[in-house]
Amino acid sequence: FPYKGDSIQILFVCRDICPILKDPKALAAVTDLFEEHVRRTYPQVDLIVGLDARGFLFGPLLAQRLGVGFAPIRKKGKLPGPTLSVAYSLEYAKAEAEIQEDAVSAGQKVLIVDDLLATGGTLYAACELIKQQKAEVLGCLVVIELKYLNGSEKLQSTPVFSLIQY
Ligand code: 5GP
Repeated sequence: FPYKGDSIQILFVCRDICPILKDPKALAAVTDLFEEHVRRTYPQVDLIVGLDARGFLFGPLLAQRLGVGFAPIRKKGKLPGPTLSVAYSLEYAKAEAEIQEDAVSAGQKVLIVDDLLATGGTLYAACELIKQQKAEVLGCLVVIELKYLNGSEKLQSTPVFSLIQY
C-alpha cells in the first residue's frame, strides 16, 4: 500500500498471506509441501517453533502432520512464566522476542516456521533463542521469501526453505 507524503512517496509492498488461509486447498498445499520437505530433509526433527504471529498459522499444522510438538516465540511480554529473550532489528524498527524457558530441551532438533523472510532479523533472533537453550536449529521454513533483501545471508549456515520467492 502506498504512503503519500508532501514531497515524498514511498511504496511499501506488503505480501498478504490471508488468501492462502481463506482457501482450504491452498492451505493444505502449503502444509503438504512443508511436510514433504521436512520428511525428506529433516526426518530427525523433534520440535516445530513458530514465530509471532503468522508463524502460528502454519507451524502447528505442520507439527501435527509430523507428530511432533509446537512451541511459540512471541513478542516481548506475551508469554507467561520464566522466559528467555533476545533483542533484534526489523526493517523499520527494533523489537524483542521471547520463548518460555522450558519450551525447548537441550539437544532437541528444531525447525523454525514463519510466514515470510524479509531482512532475516526475526528468524536470526529466533535461531539465537533456540541456541541459548542449547538446542539445534536444523533450518527455517517460510511461505514467502523476499530474495532481494538477502535475508538468508543473515542466517549464515542455517538453511532456509521457501515456497514462493520474489
Ligand atoms: P524480517 O525480520 O525478515 O525483516 O521480517 C520478517 C517478519 O516480518 C516476519 O515475521 C513477517 O511476518 C513480517 N513481515 C515483514 N514484511 C512482511 C510482508 O510483506 N508480509 C507479511 N505477511 N509479513 C511481513
